[in-house]
Parts: sequence; structure tokens; C-alpha cells
Amino acid sequence: FLLNSFDHVFVERCVFTPRGEIRSIETGTLLKDFDVIAFSISYELDYARAINMLIRGGVEPRRKDREAGDPIIVAGGPAIIQNPIPLEEFFDFFFVGELEDYAEDFIQAIEEVKEKRDFRSLEKYEFLHIPSLGRRKVKKAFTRNLNEAFYPVRQIQPLEWKDFSFLLEIGRGCGWGCRFCLAGFIYRPPRFRSLRRIMEIIEIAKSFNKFKKVCLISFAAADHPEFRKLLEYLFEKGLQASFPSLRSDLLRYEELGLIKKLGERTLTIAPEVASENLALAIGKCISPSVTESVAEEAYKAGFKQMKMYFMYGIPGEREEDVASIGNLVNRILRIGYNGIRLSITPWIPKPHTPLQWEGQEDLKELMRKRKIILKNLRGGRVRVTFFNPKKARIEAVLARGDENISRAILYVAIRNNYTVGAWHKAFQEANVDIKEYANRSIPLDEELPWDFIDIGISKEFLVREWENFHKGKAPLHCRLRLFS
Ligand code: SF4
Repeated sequence: FLLNSFDHVFVERCVFTPRGEIRSIETGTLLKDFDVIAFSISYELDYARAINMLIRGGVEPRRKDREAGDPIIVAGGPAIIQNPIPLEEFFDFFFVGELEDYAEDFIQAIEEVKEKRDFRSLEKYEFLHIPSLGRRKVKKAFTRNLNEAFYPVRQIQPLEWKDFSFLLEIGRGCGWGCRFCLAGFIYRPPRFRSLRRIMEIIEIAKSFNKFKKVCLISFAAADHPEFRKLLEYLFEKGLQASFPSLRSDLLRYEELGLIKKLGERTLTIAPEVASENLALAIGKCISPSVTESVAEEAYKAGFKQMKMYFMYGIPGEREEDVASIGNLVNRILRIGYNGIRLSITPWIPKPHTPLQWEGQEDLKELMRKRKIILKNLRGGRVRVTFFNPKKARIEAVLARGDENISRAILYVAIRNNYTVGAWHKAFQEANVDIKEYANRSIPLDEELPWDFIDIGISKEFLVREWENFHKGKAPLHCRLRLFS
């Protein structure tokens, strides 16, 4: 939407047709006939799918094999801000950061290289990573003022409008700085849209879209400085709302009641851990007692279903920490909830976080801990979804990967097979030692592949946070909360 707001730019969405071609929805143009092919990549396990799209769309996947006249292939998104190195072999350049304030520069950059594929002139754009020019400091681009930034008020909606939620980003970035969280670090600083601007967007959006529900997007919606007023406004307008990421531990009875009235049937909370010491160490600081008291308030406010997110396999985690997940869930069930859905994921080391140097736990150990968690959960009212530890290990390899990983990505992409087995075969073929990338603890003074990306946070700060993690010392904001 943003790029299409420029007069001379036409952006279309490409999909597979039933005949297996890749064509755009809007004009039916074949993928390979576009000037530029741009991917937004959020997730490591999608790397090979993006490359597979190029192959099946008739585009040379390796940048060195493309010639003048071929499309320019670019990528952006959180996975690229994190670490674009494993994808360097395929993309002509990467946009590192948030686009709004830099859209004009981005278009200009494409125009400069479109004809001749000579990327040297792009050096002046400090937020672009251009693999053919080698590595230099790349500064993450970020949008300074969300109130002034472009907002897509016309959105794509299904034919059955009742299924449609208008997507409304109320804030970006998060100030909590949980030590494991990629989004919390790469999208700093935290920024919010003012209530006035949010109301304006909703009013304008109504003239383009038919909707009764808004989906409030933010890393921690409850952090919005005018959150309560926003809830009241939506209620007065007769709208419903959903909250994909709420940080509901910050809410009390009245707000929880309003959220219920806005149509949310399930309260979602992500304590991540169920023991006090780990809650402090990871910096999320939702202690088991906080989780229980929120669950009680929410129950009184009318919620009968809960969804909870947990992690396990965190460095330094003890057996009793893992067992405490089941104990906490059982205590919450006793409050009276009809059902609790659990989503449980092994911890995965992510670049640019204070835990980037830590190795992921061994697969056997993760499997053993998974059994401990299950053994401690009682009753049929709990539904558990475990993220496959084998996939989590592949994700860790790709997240902390370097240029050696690209051969494995290509192997998987060519075969169009994304199973764990296919990835293992690919790593074997590419001589990638999984343990070296996923399980190794990296010395603090070792140069990291993603060090050249400047996300605006110093390495000294990350090291201090890493030390505090090992001392079990909570970040300042947690300590303030605990004493408030
Ligand atoms: S509150 Fe959520 S989004 Fe923010 S840093 Fe913590 S885990 Fe990440």
C-alpha cells in the first residue's frame, strides 16, 4: 500500500496459480516479468520457501547468475534486520528496518540499479545491505513518528465482510527488553499512535472498508498510554476488538471487563516461565503470582477460557522450573476456567538479544523436558501445542547462521521439501554442523555474523544484560514493578 501510493510505482501480489505458475493477482503478470521482486521475511523457516518461489517463478535464485534485464531481488522484514547473511547469496540487496520514512529512498535506489544491475551507487544508503559490495556498517531505518507515518486505511478484505477485522497498528516497538525477545530489541524505540490519530484512522477506514471488528496490533497493547480511553472509545462506537499481543499482566479488573465486552472470549497471557527466578532472569517479570492474580481478575471479569505461552530449555533452567509450568496451569484451572490452551516452545537463541551468545539446549534434553511438562499437566481441560524441538533447532541454525548456510537453504528450496528430514539432509550436504550453530555457547569476544547491523543498541549494553541474566538480576523496570 505504501509503495503504491507513489504515482510511478505499481506493486502487485504474486501467488501460485492452479497450473503451478506464479502470477500477480492484479494483472496476471508472471513473476519473472517484474522489474523488482520484494519479499518481507518474518521467519527463518520461510527462507527456503522464498528461494523456492524464485526458482518456480523462472528467476535465477543466485544473484551471481542474474544478468542485466533480470528482476532485482530484494528482501526486508524482521528476519532480515536480525541477520541477512544466510540469504546473501540470493538477494541483490536488503532493506534493513522500517520502510515508511525511507520509501522514497528505497524507490530511488531501485531506479538507480534497475537497468544495469550496478549496485555501487547504493553505498550512500546506510540502511541497505548490498552483498556485492561486501560488509559495512548498516544502520537500521526506523519510523520516527507513527502519527505522521503513512497508514494503509484501505485494506484487503474477504468477500464475506463479517470475517474481516480492520488491522490497526496502535504501537510499534517495546520497551520491556525481555532478554530473549528479538522483536523487543530490533524494533526499539517503543512508539505509539495517539488516540486522536487512531480515531481518525478508524473514521477514514470506515469509508473504504466494511468492518465491525478491529485487530489492535502492538507488541504490548496494554502499554499504550491511552489504552483505557481507547477501549472505551471502541465500545462506544459499537466495535469489537481483538488483541494479538496484549501483555495482559498489566491489566486490572475494569480493563479486563472492557476487553471482554469488546468481544474477546479468551484471555491470552504469555508468562513464558512459571518460576520466580527465571521470570526475573529472562526479564519478562511475569511471576507465577502475577499470572495467578491476573487469571483470577480475568475470571471475575467474565473470561472462561485462557491461552498461555511458555518457553522451556532456557539457559540455566532447572528441572523444577520446568515442572512448575504444569503446577501453575493446574492452579489456574482450579480458579474455574473451562479450558486452557497452552503453546509451548523451546527457547531459540536470537541475534541482537542479550542471550545471542547462549547455545540452545541439546535435543535429547529438550525432549526429556517436554515429557516433564506433559507429566505435570492434569485434566482434559488443557490443550497443549508443542513447537517441534527439531524445528526449533533448525530455526536456531538459520537465525545464527552465516554464509555457509546458504547452500543448505538452496538444497531445501530446490527440492520444495521443508520437512525436518530434508533440512537435516541439506545441512549434511552443505557440511553444516548443526550443533556448532544451534547449541554452541559463543564467547563474548567472538565476532558475530550480524555484528555489522546497527540496530541502535550497543554491544556493551547487551553484554551487561547477559551478565545480569546470569546473575538472575531483573532489569530495572521489573524491579520497579516488584516494589510498586
Ligand atoms: S513484552 Fe513481549 S514484545 Fe516486549 S520485549 Fe517482552 S516478550 Fe518482547
